[in-house]
Amino acid sequence: MADRIDGNEVASEIRSALADSVERLADADERPTLATVLMSPDPASETYVSMKQRDCEELGIQTRDIELELDAPASDLFDVIAELNGDPDVNAILVQSPVPDHVDYREVIERIDPEKDVDGFHPENIGRLVAGYPRYKPCTPHGIQKLLEAEGVDTEGKDAVVVGRSRIVGKPMANLFIQKAPGGNATTTVCHSRTDNLAEKTRQADILVAAAGVPEFIDGSMVSEGTVVIDVGINRVDADTEKGYELVGDVDFESVEPQVDAITPVPGGVGPMTRAMLLYNTVKATSRQSGIDVELP
Ligand code: NAD
Repeated sequence: MADRIDGNEVASEIRSALADSVERLADADERPTLATVLMSPDPASETYVSMKQRDCEELGIQTRDIELELDAPASDLFDVIAELNGDPDVNAILVQSPVPDHVDYREVIERIDPEKDVDGFHPENIGRLVAGYPRYKPCTPHGIQKLLEAEGVDTEGKDAVVVGRSRIVGKPMANLFIQKAPGGNATTTVCHSRTDNLAEKTRQADILVAAAGVPEFIDGSMVSEGTVVIDVGINRVDADTEKGYELVGDVDFESVEPQVDAITPVPGGVGPMTRAMLLYNTVKATSRQSGIDVELP
């Protein structure tokens, strides 16, 4: 039986350490503030944004909630970003993706002040990450690093296999694994939709990160004994439930779990860590901008 890596528990430890840092900032009259901007055609986005706001409120982080009509011109969104960039009371900005087709998401990201880009998606922040001196690590891969650390998995010298090469998960994950830094020093393979003989690669993994967005496609035949499996996928599949769907990962839990050393569940694995690391980046942003040093977990 594999160890089940409990993302809720690790995330809760991180949140409580961050709450102390928020208090220390408050003692110095600094209140971290995250602005969320919602202009998304995906109905799930509203839920994501309200969860992020609730997380902030629990920790004493203030939020600004900005919503734009879906048919508003791109310039309205750019004006909002410019205003938030210039507002000294706003430490962190998050524009929920996706944005409507008439808005160029790349331009959205490039317009956010990199000091306030707590998603870590601005090219300057990506560049720093790749160069080895990250400012804000993207939340999901950073959360995975923290999960592995909490599970006592030393990445140094290990074979890490990342399935997926997206801008928000696969690529930054691979970059963190190859850093000459704690949580890095892994020999890293990045697999994607054009990879031949995928199972051959995944079976080599000491650490396997599945981030392909394909429901339950990593099965028991694709893993080996001793592997630590991190399932990033959050996929809605039709099911006979009240909501008419259920959430499943990219890993077929039933066939994989008996074969491996440790595994994250979905839900309750990577998801809560992603949320916690947004809070981490918001506290870090406030500390950087105010010049008040606080401990980060
Ligand atoms: P994406 O669609 O942007 O990227 C998927 C990647 O997987 C692509 O690079 C593609 O090359 C690769 N891929 C697709 N099919 C493949 C296949 N059959 N074999 C090998 N590679 C394949 O997705 P994303 O934004 O990286 O998200 C991936 C999954 O993680 C989704 O289910 C998403 O909902 C979930 N997600 C979860 C969290 C979290 O906090 N848990 C955060 C972000 C994304």
